[in-house]
Amino acid sequence: MVTRAETDHLIFGGADVVELAERYGTPLYITDERSIRTNFRNYKTAFQSVDHAIYFAVKANGNLAILRILAAEGAGADVFSGGELHLVRSAGIPLHKVLFNGNSKSEEELKEAVELKVQVSVDSLDELRTLSEVAGEVGKEAEIAIRVNPDVSPNVNPKIATGLRTSKFGIPYSEILATYEEAAKLPGIAIKGIHCHIGSQILDVGVYREATEKMMGLVKGLYDRGIELEFVDLGGGLGISYQKEKERAPTPKDLAEAILPVFKTTTKSQGITPKLIVEPGRSIVGPASILVSKINAVKKAFKHFVAIDAGFNLLIRPVMYDAYHEVVVANKLEAPASELYTVVGPICESGDIIAKDRMLPEVKRGDLVAILDVGAYGFSMSSQYNGRPRCAELLVCDGAVDVIRSRERVEDLIRNQVIPERLR
Ligand SMILES: *Cc1c(COP(=O)(O)O)cnc(C)c1O
Repeated sequence: MVTRAETDHLIFGGADVVELAERYGTPLYITDERSIRTNFRNYKTAFQSVDHAIYFAVKANGNLAILRILAAEGAGADVFSGGELHLVRSAGIPLHKVLFNGNSKSEEELKEAVELKVQVSVDSLDELRTLSEVAGEVGKEAEIAIRVNPDVSPNVNPKIATGLRTSKFGIPYSEILATYEEAAKLPGIAIKGIHCHIGSQILDVGVYREATEKMMGLVKGLYDRGIELEFVDLGGGLGISYQKEKERAPTPKDLAEAILPVFKTTTKSQGITPKLIVEPGRSIVGPASILVSKINAVKKAFKHFVAIDAGFNLLIRPVMYDAYHEVVVANKLEAPASELYTVVGPICESGDIIAKDRMLPEVKRGDLVAILDVGAYGFSMSSQYNGRPRCAELLVCDGAVDVIRSRERVEDLIRNQVIPERLR
């Protein structure tokens, strides 16, 4: 992020954000292609000393252009629904590099995965048995990993901790070996790997070491029982620095340094060579996007409110997770921060707060704010609540601009709705 001194405008991905807002309207998501490529390549470099694959978690950002960039960089994908599988197919991510996750997959989803030879991360014994039946019906083997609940506790918001004993995901650590033994006996099931994912926005990589130790203990137990694996998938979850002054986010290199010694020790002592898979979402796309929004009103009430045209319809993280996002005034970037503002959205809910008590330059109606680090769980969690069509998305690369999602119109709000004949 740099500024251009003469105009005091925010420059992002080489483009003047104020000009983009004038040309394409607001609210507006803007993604910097270079940032995505750099973030992805940092993973490749960090894990280059082992046979590995990087599966992007599509739920973080399902935009086809962004998936296409990642496909070109060599990414595989972690998908959580038939819909996300459709997205990665449309973007050209090879199906042999996709893992179908989820704690509640429908029979149709399982069938599609087996038909397409997409590997499935099995979340329960119930699902394992269903999958065996589905494989029989389809006449192909179901390639599986089992999702382990490793019972580790990352220090993150409970809504995004997924490896706790009490979490809905995975099969309890203590039941894993028995589940694999059952899987080995079931017809139509081909064991390929083992999988865990312990949470999201993790800032302390120590918990990865703990999870890896548990997972490699299981791997050893499986080989001792004659069950061999092609891959060990340790999930995603690496955090990013939303609050620049307070949080130092670990890098993919820090992650690799936590995981690899444990991984290598076990594979060496067992004389085995499974592929290591990691599934980053947020740390690839999170820092790569901003959300640009126009100020509709400034009001001095109990607080000094700045009302913008983007709310939790377009960015739910502050409301859902109490998440912090940095906010800058895109057309007054260098002006002194002299006022204490609370930035709120246009949604008819008093909880629709984007940023609480922030020092910003003095603003007026028509000024533009940019909300930073919104590339993960931003647009992908958006809605049409309050009759608000979703906004447009741009991709910028060294100043070049492409529209990668057009702005919805009010017609899109009623697209699938039907007024019954008798009510006409
Ligand atoms: C969400 C998810 C990820 C990605 O998590 P991030 O925090 O975005 O890196 C990876 N694997 C699985 C199974 C997930 O559900």
